Amino acid sequence: MTFQDYSIVPDEARRPVWVNGALVPWEEATFHVASHVINYGFAVFEGLRFYDTERGPAIFRLDDHIARLNRSAELFQIKPHVSFDQIRDGCIEVVKNSRAKSGVLRPQIQFGLSSRMSFPATDTVDVTIPFWPLGAYREKTGLRVVTSELRKLPIAAVPIEAKVAGYYVNSYLNRRFAESKQVDDAVMLDEHGHVTEASVTHVFAAKDGVLFTPAAGNILLGITRATVMQLAAEVAELQVEERSFGPEALRDADEIFFTGTSAEIEPVTEYDGITIGEGAPGPVTQRISEIYSKAVLGQLPGYESWLTPVNA
Ligand code: PMP
Repeated sequence: MTFQDYSIVPDEARRPVWVNGALVPWEEATFHVASHVINYGFAVFEGLRFYDTERGPAIFRLDDHIARLNRSAELFQIKPHVSFDQIRDGCIEVVKNSRAKSGVLRPQIQFGLSSRMSFPATDTVDVTIPFWPLGAYREKTGLRVVTSELRKLPIAAVPIEAKVAGYYVNSYLNRRFAESKQVDDAVMLDEHGHVTEASVTHVFAAKDGVLFTPAAGNILLGITRATVMQLAAEVAELQVEERSFGPEALRDADEIFFTGTSAEIEPVTEYDGITIGEGAPGPVTQRISEIYSKAVLGQLPGYESWLTPVNA
């Protein structure tokens, strides 16, 4: 087997990467195998999308993602040597140099190569921003989902609202669990049996016209979650509630959908083997998808400021 076979990466993904303040060719943006982040997964990161808008490529909610990255870094106690304004500008530079109209950005702050290969040795902090081309996340109009047998990492162990690379062991095993049940995803509960998140998305459900989602606590503070709550209340004029609930509320829901930056809005049409609604995206899900699609393209009057055009 070839080690680091770059040819498996499509040409359109091999765009300049921002490393500690400057763009470097894609081939040069590498970590040594002895680097701390490779050994322990100690990194905080963000996933952002940029869209092909009338004002050119524009990053959706850039400042909110940078603010969450800053908060994650504080909670995780990792200090970059560049400022968050520089990281923000770096995101814009990466988009410009990607030559792509849309795609994903992944700013990440991590412990780099250290003087010792040992987990308390955190001598260097590196900041990287690669681009990745991404269209639809999952080409599906309705997901089949079950309640997971795996619990969400508890807040008593880790600050779960930080977006930390190592936490994705939990998401990965959850996704594997879903695959073992031959479904698309699984919803993890917290230690009290309350719904938290699916592998990399938040959970929304509608019942009798009311939209509800798990309250903040044992979840990432999702940017799409916040966007959807705001648009549902202000544009769709729905009643939106953040509360604790168990999986029975999902089995009993009229509609369920997932949200996430990459995933966007994903209708769920089967939960724990039960058909949800008519087994197709319902009216609330369709309305939210429609509004969200307009918002990310800068076509929703009053919400254009969520977009940062890179050529402005
Ligand atoms: N939960 C987890 C564990 C995630 O990784 C993500 C993706 N960032 C989400 C939820 C969705 O959050 P956001 O809307 O901020 O992308």
